Amino acid sequence: MGHDPNNDEITKEETAMTHHHEHASHHNATVTDPVCGMSVDPATAAATREHDGVTFAFCSAHCAATFDADPHRYGHPHPAH
Ligand SMILES: [Zn+2]
Repeated sequence: MGHDPNNDEITKEETAMTHHHEHASHHNATVTDPVCGMSVDPATAAATREHDGVTFAFCSAHCAATFDADPHRYGHPHPAH
């Protein structure tokens, strides 16, 4: 499996940081911090939490603490009821 240079999913944001080590990991490996909305790489996240089988990553311990205070608010953006 190679890196397709014609991939339409490449965004302007990625173009702005082209000099990272692309061979080290998949370039779509980041997840969204549910508290502040930042993109966070789980491998380098300041903190991670698991809730209902889903792992969340946070940009800072402060965001993780906010999540801990109300995990259902952040862990379930579309509550069933
Ligand atoms: Zn955050």
